[in-house]
Amino acid sequence: MKKYGTVAIMGRPNTGKSTLLNTLMNQKVAITSPLPQTTRKNVSVRYEDEKGIIDFVDTPGIINKVEDLIGRRVNLEAPKALGSVDVIICLVDISREKTDEENKVIGIIRKSDAKKILVYNKIDKAIGSKDHLAEYNYLEDEFDKVISISAIKNKNVKSLINLIMDFLKEGKPKYGKGEMKIPMTSKEFIAEIIREKAYLFLRKEIPYSVATRVNDVEDKEDVIVIKAEILTNNERYKKMIIGKQGKKIKEIGYNARKELELMSGRKIYLELVVRVDKHWMESFS
Ligand code: GDP
Ligand code: MG
Repeated sequence: MKKYGTVAIMGRPNTGKSTLLNTLMNQKVAITSPLPQTTRKNVSVRYEDEKGIIDFVDTPGIINKVEDLIGRRVNLEAPKALGSVDVIICLVDISREKTDEENKVIGIIRKSDAKKILVYNKIDKAIGSKDHLAEYNYLEDEFDKVISISAIKNKNVKSLINLIMDFLKEGKPKYGKGEMKIPMTSKEFIAEIIREKAYLFLRKEIPYSVATRVNDVEDKEDVIVIKAEILTNNERYKKMIIGKQGKKIKEIGYNARKELELMSGRKIYLELVVRVDKHWMESFS
Protein backbone atom coordinates (compact mmCIF):
# COMPACT_ATOMS: atom_id res chain seq x y z
CA MET A 1 0.00 0.00 0.00
CA LYS A 2 1.13 3.52 -0.79
CA LYS A 3 1.42 6.44 1.60
CA TYR A 4 -1.19 9.16 1.64
CA GLY A 5 -1.39 12.67 3.07
CA THR A 6 -2.62 16.20 2.70
CA VAL A 7 -0.38 19.24 2.51
CA ALA A 8 -1.14 22.96 2.72
CA ILE A 9 1.22 25.42 1.11
CA MET A 10 1.22 28.61 3.13
CA GLY A 11 2.98 31.89 2.59
CA ARG A 12 2.54 35.52 1.81
CA PRO A 13 1.51 36.41 -1.77
CA ASN A 14 4.34 36.20 -4.30
CA THR A 15 6.47 33.72 -2.40
CA GLY A 16 6.00 31.15 -5.16
CA LYS A 17 3.18 28.90 -3.92
CA SER A 18 1.54 28.53 -7.31
CA THR A 19 4.86 28.13 -9.05
CA LEU A 20 5.76 25.33 -6.67
CA LEU A 21 2.49 23.55 -7.41
CA ASN A 22 3.03 23.88 -11.15
CA THR A 23 6.56 22.53 -10.85
CA LEU A 24 5.38 19.65 -8.66
CA MET A 25 2.80 18.71 -11.22
CA ASN A 26 5.10 19.32 -14.13
CA GLN A 27 2.50 21.50 -15.78
CA LYS A 28 0.29 24.51 -15.40
CA VAL A 29 -2.23 23.04 -13.06
CA ALA A 30 -5.84 23.45 -13.95
CA ILE A 31 -7.04 23.43 -10.39
CA THR A 32 -10.63 22.33 -9.97
CA SER A 33 -13.06 25.13 -10.06
CA PRO A 34 -13.67 27.38 -7.09
CA LEU A 35 -16.75 28.84 -8.72
CA PRO A 36 -20.21 28.12 -7.35
CA GLN A 37 -22.07 27.33 -10.56
CA THR A 38 -19.65 24.65 -11.57
CA THR A 39 -19.75 21.29 -9.89
CA ARG A 40 -16.95 21.66 -7.38
CA LYS A 41 -15.94 24.25 -4.90
CA ASN A 42 -12.60 22.91 -3.97
CA VAL A 43 -9.07 23.56 -4.91
CA SER A 44 -6.54 20.84 -4.56
CA VAL A 45 -4.02 19.08 -6.69
CA ARG A 46 -3.01 15.45 -6.47
CA TYR A 47 0.61 14.42 -6.74
CA GLU A 48 1.44 10.76 -7.10
CA ASP A 49 4.65 8.81 -7.40
CA GLU A 50 5.86 5.30 -6.60
CA LYS A 51 5.94 6.02 -2.85
CA GLY A 52 2.61 7.67 -2.33
CA ILE A 53 -0.15 10.13 -3.00
CA ILE A 54 -0.25 13.71 -1.77
CA ASP A 55 -3.16 16.12 -2.01
CA PHE A 56 -1.80 19.65 -2.07
CA VAL A 57 -3.92 22.64 -1.31
CA ASP A 58 -2.70 26.03 -2.40
CA THR A 59 -3.95 28.65 0.01
CA PRO A 60 -4.25 31.87 -1.92
CA GLY A 61 -4.09 34.22 0.98
CA ILE A 62 -6.15 32.24 3.44
CA ILE A 63 -3.76 33.71 5.88
CA ASN A 64 -3.81 37.26 4.69
CA LYS A 65 -7.46 37.02 4.05
CA VAL A 66 -9.05 39.35 6.48
CA GLU A 67 -5.98 40.36 8.30
CA ASP A 68 -5.24 43.44 6.25
CA LEU A 69 -8.79 44.39 6.97
CA ILE A 70 -9.50 43.29 10.48
CA GLY A 71 -6.72 41.68 12.42
CA ARG A 72 -8.91 39.93 14.93
CA ARG A 73 -10.63 37.65 12.46
CA VAL A 74 -7.67 35.99 10.95
CA ASN A 75 -6.95 33.85 13.98
CA LEU A 76 -10.36 32.29 13.68
CA GLU A 77 -9.98 31.51 10.00
CA ALA A 78 -6.59 30.02 9.76
CA PRO A 79 -6.62 27.12 12.21
CA LYS A 80 -9.78 25.87 10.55
CA ALA A 81 -7.96 25.89 7.24
CA LEU A 82 -5.12 23.97 8.74
CA GLY A 83 -7.03 21.59 10.92
CA SER A 84 -7.25 18.82 8.40
CA VAL A 85 -3.79 18.69 6.86
CA ASP A 86 -0.94 16.35 7.73
CA VAL A 87 1.88 18.63 6.68
CA ILE A 88 2.22 22.39 6.33
CA ILE A 89 4.77 23.93 4.04
CA CYS A 90 5.71 27.42 5.07
CA LEU A 91 7.08 28.96 1.91
CA VAL A 92 9.24 32.05 2.23
CA ASP A 93 10.92 34.17 -0.40
CA ILE A 94 14.50 34.55 0.72
CA SER A 95 15.17 37.25 -1.85
CA ARG A 96 12.97 39.59 0.14
CA GLU A 97 13.20 41.03 3.58
CA LYS A 98 11.17 39.31 6.27
CA THR A 99 8.20 41.43 7.22
CA ASP A 100 5.23 41.35 9.52
CA GLU A 101 3.37 39.29 6.92
CA GLU A 102 5.76 36.40 7.43
CA ASN A 103 5.47 36.75 11.18
CA LYS A 104 1.71 36.43 10.96
CA VAL A 105 1.93 33.39 8.70
CA ILE A 106 4.32 31.75 11.12
CA GLY A 107 2.10 32.66 14.07
CA ILE A 108 -0.79 30.85 12.44
CA ILE A 109 1.23 27.80 11.49
CA ARG A 110 2.48 27.58 15.06
CA LYS A 111 -1.05 26.72 16.22
CA SER A 112 -1.36 23.66 14.04
CA ASP A 113 -0.49 20.09 15.04
CA ALA A 114 0.61 19.20 11.52
CA LYS A 115 4.23 18.45 10.67
CA LYS A 116 5.87 21.67 9.57
CA ILE A 117 8.44 22.24 6.87
CA LEU A 118 10.11 25.61 6.44
CA VAL A 119 10.92 26.04 2.76
CA TYR A 120 13.27 28.74 1.57
CA ASN A 121 12.35 29.55 -2.02
CA LYS A 122 14.09 31.46 -4.82
CA ILE A 123 17.60 30.30 -4.00
CA ASP A 124 18.39 30.69 -7.71
CA LYS A 125 17.99 34.44 -7.39
CA ALA A 126 19.23 35.12 -3.91
CA ILE A 127 22.43 33.53 -2.77
CA GLY A 128 25.14 34.69 -0.42
CA SER A 129 24.95 38.35 0.40
CA LYS A 130 21.66 38.82 -1.42
CA ASP A 131 19.63 36.40 0.68
CA HIS A 132 17.67 36.98 3.87
CA LEU A 133 18.23 33.55 5.38
CA ALA A 134 19.68 34.97 8.58
CA GLU A 135 16.33 36.53 9.40
CA TYR A 136 14.75 33.07 9.64
CA ASN A 137 17.48 31.15 11.40
CA TYR A 138 15.97 31.55 14.84
CA LEU A 139 12.77 29.89 13.63
CA GLU A 140 14.28 26.70 12.38
CA ASP A 141 13.86 24.93 15.74
CA GLU A 142 10.11 25.32 15.53
CA PHE A 143 9.94 23.40 12.28
CA ASP A 144 10.32 19.67 11.81
CA LYS A 145 12.42 20.16 8.67
CA VAL A 146 14.04 22.99 6.75
CA ILE A 147 14.94 22.95 3.07
CA SER A 148 16.04 25.41 0.37
CA ILE A 149 14.56 25.19 -3.10
CA SER A 150 14.03 26.96 -6.36
CA ALA A 151 10.45 26.33 -7.39
CA ILE A 152 10.98 27.89 -10.78
CA LYS A 153 14.23 26.04 -11.61
CA ASN A 154 12.95 22.79 -10.11
CA LYS A 155 15.87 22.65 -7.74
CA ASN A 156 15.43 20.45 -4.64
CA VAL A 157 11.72 20.10 -5.28
CA LYS A 158 12.04 16.33 -5.41
CA SER A 159 13.86 16.42 -2.07
CA LEU A 160 10.97 18.38 -0.65
CA ILE A 161 8.60 15.67 -1.85
CA ASN A 162 10.75 13.08 -0.13
CA LEU A 163 10.67 15.03 3.14
CA ILE A 164 6.89 15.13 2.94
CA MET A 165 6.66 11.41 2.16
CA ASP A 166 8.77 10.66 5.25
CA PHE A 167 6.05 12.23 7.39
CA LEU A 168 3.17 10.31 5.82
CA LYS A 169 1.73 6.94 6.70
CA GLU A 170 0.33 4.25 4.49
CA GLY A 171 -3.30 4.72 3.73
CA LYS A 172 -6.06 5.36 1.27
CA PRO A 173 -6.85 8.88 -0.01
CA LYS A 174 -9.34 10.65 2.20
CA TYR A 175 -10.64 12.79 -0.62
CA GLY A 176 -11.53 12.28 -4.24
CA LYS A 177 -9.08 13.72 -6.73
CA GLY A 178 -9.28 17.51 -6.57
CA GLU A 179 -11.90 17.38 -3.89
CA MET A 180 -10.06 18.37 -0.81
CA LYS A 181 -11.95 21.20 0.77
CA ILE A 182 -10.77 24.63 1.62
CA PRO A 183 -12.82 26.53 4.12
CA MET A 184 -13.96 29.44 2.02
CA THR A 185 -17.09 30.08 0.10
CA SER A 186 -16.64 30.69 -3.59
CA LYS A 187 -17.32 34.38 -3.44
CA GLU A 188 -14.87 34.79 -0.63
CA PHE A 189 -12.38 32.75 -2.55
CA ILE A 190 -12.69 34.84 -5.69
CA ALA A 191 -12.56 38.04 -3.62
CA GLU A 192 -9.36 36.77 -2.09
CA ILE A 193 -7.73 36.16 -5.47
CA ILE A 194 -8.59 39.72 -6.49
CA ARG A 195 -7.34 41.06 -3.20
CA GLU A 196 -4.10 39.17 -3.62
CA LYS A 197 -3.51 40.82 -7.01
CA ALA A 198 -4.50 44.23 -5.66
CA TYR A 199 -2.00 43.73 -2.89
CA LEU A 200 0.73 42.87 -5.38
CA PHE A 201 0.18 45.93 -7.54
CA LEU A 202 -0.61 48.40 -4.79
CA ARG A 203 1.31 47.36 -1.74
CA LYS A 204 3.85 50.20 -2.04
CA GLU A 205 1.19 52.85 -2.18
CA ILE A 206 -1.64 51.67 0.01
CA PRO A 207 -0.83 48.85 2.32
CA TYR A 208 -3.86 48.70 4.60
CA SER A 209 -6.84 50.28 2.96
CA VAL A 210 -8.09 47.85 0.38
CA ALA A 211 -10.81 45.26 0.68
CA THR A 212 -12.46 43.28 -2.09
CA ARG A 213 -15.96 41.96 -2.41
CA VAL A 214 -17.66 39.77 -4.99
CA ASN A 215 -21.30 40.70 -5.47
CA ASP A 216 -22.35 38.35 -8.20
CA VAL A 217 -21.17 35.23 -10.01
CA GLU A 218 -23.17 34.10 -13.00
CA ASP A 219 -22.47 31.10 -15.20
CA LYS A 220 -23.49 31.86 -18.76
CA GLU A 221 -22.29 28.60 -20.27
CA ASP A 222 -19.57 30.08 -22.49
CA VAL A 223 -18.35 32.46 -19.83
CA ILE A 224 -18.57 33.05 -16.08
CA VAL A 225 -19.41 36.66 -15.31
CA ILE A 226 -18.08 37.97 -12.02
CA LYS A 227 -19.03 41.33 -10.59
CA ALA A 228 -16.60 42.54 -7.98
CA GLU A 229 -15.43 45.67 -6.29
CA ILE A 230 -12.39 46.98 -4.58
CA LEU A 231 -13.34 49.01 -1.55
CA THR A 232 -11.38 51.76 0.05
CA ASN A 233 -12.25 54.38 2.59
CA ASN A 234 -10.75 57.36 0.85
CA GLU A 235 -11.05 59.25 -2.48
CA ARG A 236 -7.32 59.68 -2.81
CA TYR A 237 -6.78 55.92 -2.57
CA LYS A 238 -9.51 55.34 -5.11
CA LYS A 239 -7.54 57.39 -7.66
CA MET A 240 -4.40 55.41 -6.92
CA ILE A 241 -6.17 52.08 -7.30
CA ILE A 242 -7.58 53.13 -10.66
CA GLY A 243 -4.26 54.58 -11.79
CA LYS A 244 -3.49 56.79 -14.77
CA GLN A 245 -6.03 56.05 -17.48
CA GLY A 246 -7.21 53.08 -15.51
CA LYS A 247 -3.89 51.32 -15.84
CA LYS A 248 -3.66 49.93 -12.29
CA ILE A 249 -7.17 48.57 -12.07
CA LYS A 250 -6.77 46.96 -15.50
CA GLU A 251 -3.57 45.28 -14.38
CA ILE A 252 -5.22 43.96 -11.22
CA GLY A 253 -8.29 42.79 -13.12
CA TYR A 254 -6.27 41.14 -15.88
CA ASN A 255 -4.14 39.17 -13.45
CA ALA A 256 -7.07 38.11 -11.29
CA ARG A 257 -8.97 36.98 -14.37
CA LYS A 258 -6.02 34.95 -15.65
CA GLU A 259 -5.67 33.14 -12.34
CA LEU A 260 -9.38 32.42 -12.11
CA GLU A 261 -9.38 31.09 -15.67
CA LEU A 262 -6.48 28.81 -14.88
CA MET A 263 -8.16 27.53 -11.75
CA SER A 264 -11.56 26.98 -13.27
CA GLY A 265 -10.59 25.98 -16.77
CA ARG A 266 -13.30 28.38 -17.87
CA LYS A 267 -13.49 31.72 -19.62
CA ILE A 268 -14.03 34.51 -17.12
CA TYR A 269 -15.43 37.98 -17.56
CA LEU A 270 -14.50 40.11 -14.60
CA GLU A 271 -16.23 43.39 -14.00
CA LEU A 272 -14.13 45.19 -11.44
CA VAL A 273 -14.95 48.60 -10.00
CA VAL A 274 -13.46 50.73 -7.26
CA ARG A 275 -15.75 52.20 -4.67
CA VAL A 276 -15.23 54.49 -1.73
CA ASP A 277 -17.08 53.16 1.26
CA LYS A 278 -16.34 54.78 4.57
CA HIS A 279 -18.00 51.93 6.38
CA TRP A 280 -16.49 48.97 4.59
CA MET A 281 -14.90 47.69 7.73
CA GLU A 282 -18.27 47.13 9.35
CA SER A 283 -19.58 45.20 6.37
CA PHE A 284 -16.77 42.70 6.80
CA SER A 285 -17.23 41.96 10.44
P1 GDP B 1 2.26 32.94 -5.01
O1 GDP B 1 1.58 34.26 -4.90
O2 GDP B 1 2.86 32.55 -3.70
O3 GDP B 1 1.40 31.88 -5.60
O4 GDP B 1 3.52 33.17 -5.98
P2 GDP B 1 3.70 32.79 -7.52
O5 GDP B 1 3.90 31.34 -7.70
O6 GDP B 1 2.64 33.45 -8.30
O7 GDP B 1 5.13 33.46 -7.81
C1 GDP B 1 5.35 34.84 -7.67
C2 GDP B 1 6.53 35.28 -8.50
O8 GDP B 1 7.73 34.69 -8.04
C3 GDP B 1 6.39 34.88 -9.96
O9 GDP B 1 6.90 35.93 -10.76
C4 GDP B 1 7.30 33.65 -10.07
O10 GDP B 1 7.81 33.48 -11.37
C5 GDP B 1 8.38 33.97 -9.08
N1 GDP B 1 9.03 32.78 -8.53
C6 GDP B 1 8.42 31.72 -7.96
N2 GDP B 1 9.33 30.81 -7.58
C7 GDP B 1 10.55 31.29 -7.91
C8 GDP B 1 11.91 30.80 -7.78
O11 GDP B 1 12.19 29.71 -7.29
N3 GDP B 1 12.89 31.62 -8.24
C9 GDP B 1 12.64 32.84 -8.80
N4 GDP B 1 13.69 33.56 -9.23
N5 GDP B 1 11.39 33.30 -8.96
C10 GDP B 1 10.35 32.56 -8.52
MG1 MG C 1 -0.69 31.90 -6.12
